[in-house]
Amino acid sequence: MTFRISTHIVVGFLAALVLTGSLASERSVAQAAQGTAVTALTGVRIIDGTGRPPIERGTVVISNGRITAAGASVQIPAGATNIDLTGKTVMPGMINAHAHVQHQTKAMAMRDDLIRRLRLYASYGITTAVSLGQTTAEEQAEVIKLRDEQDRITLDRARVYTSGPSIRNQKTPDEVRQTVNRYADERVDRIKTHVANNMTPDTYAALVDQAHRRGLRVAAHIFFLKEAEMMLERGVDVIAHSVRDQDVPNTFVDAMKRRNVGYIPTLTRDLSLIVYETTPAFFTDPFFLRGISVYGEQVKMLSDPGYQQKVRDNPQTQVVKQALAQGTRNLKMLSDGGVTIALGTDSGTDEGRWQGYFEQVELEMMARAGMTPMQVIVAATGAAAQVSKLDHVGTIAPGKAADLLVLDANPLQDIRNTRQIHSVWLAGRRVGASGAN
Ligand SMILES: [Zn+2]
Repeated sequence: MTFRISTHIVVGFLAALVLTGSLASERSVAQAAQGTAVTALTGVRIIDGTGRPPIERGTVVISNGRITAAGASVQIPAGATNIDLTGKTVMPGMINAHAHVQHQTKAMAMRDDLIRRLRLYASYGITTAVSLGQTTAEEQAEVIKLRDEQDRITLDRARVYTSGPSIRNQKTPDEVRQTVNRYADERVDRIKTHVANNMTPDTYAALVDQAHRRGLRVAAHIFFLKEAEMMLERGVDVIAHSVRDQDVPNTFVDAMKRRNVGYIPTLTRDLSLIVYETTPAFFTDPFFLRGISVYGEQVKMLSDPGYQQKVRDNPQTQVVKQALAQGTRNLKMLSDGGVTIALGTDSGTDEGRWQGYFEQVELEMMARAGMTPMQVIVAATGAAAQVSKLDHVGTIAPGKAADLLVLDANPLQDIRNTRQIHSVWLAGRRVGASGAN
């Protein structure tokens, strides 16, 4: 005991000496590391993530990892580093509201694998990943550790939030309340549940109620309209997949809006179940190949003729084709009806769901479903933040984290221009650079 106290005193004394000895230089080093210096992005088209029309030749001022000002006529503070982005577009870094940050490469240490996957997301412009489902308790603990660290480190990877493992197979309302309490005590960010007739409606109601008592939102995995309707009635906050069995009726659209429930289509999840009947063209797309250091092991497996034969022979493949077409129709109806749509892909779970690349494909599929490029961008930024209840990211506005995606081409003209990545910024620092500046 005595030893420990005296050690603390000595350490504290030494720290004080260091601070008084070179306070100025210590501080400037710390400022540089934390991005305290002021940066101004100038001459840039700003798409702020709210759906408001873009600002042409605008300025975004960044300090201390956050946006301090953004607009057409912004005073640039003296001493700021100006970065001329004339001809470029800046939008918020994207949020995947239904991701999975899971330990998929077992040959690699869990933490290293999770970190490289978060870096992969960031390199494709996805600066936040909401992991709706972990596979083990250790994995959950590691993701929570990464989440807790992310505000303290020099951020070079996507921010992560997690639901812990999806809750299912709970026998009684009491049991599910205890499970939700345990998750809340373990400090998950939200609750995820699977709807597949394995819990009674009362148990789902107790799950939602208990989560809300603990300040957690609930996202539900569904397939059928009646599952989505049942969860809406029970007070769910997020429908985490498309309704894929029939057209959504107006009553459903109205209830989603009235209850302010978010809807995450995950079209690429279904794509991943049908596209490997043959070798997909995107396997040679240079933009896909950027991720090959991580994707490589699965590309090999999915390119195998035997694997592709199994996909073709699986009767489920034809069912999923219908389901994807139905989900695509429903997305258009829900979007037109004014329901809040959020980007989500289910990437990082099973084979061929590419973290980073498939968020970009998802944007294209949402646009093909009939959403405008602006609607798609909002779904990937401001709306995804709102649906995920993440107040500090998702839009370009004073006070928000400076997580930014700078593009060489205007995505309002063609949503595929979100692939023309000039640079990605996390907490005010440029990472994953390509091109000039
Ligand atoms: Zn999922």
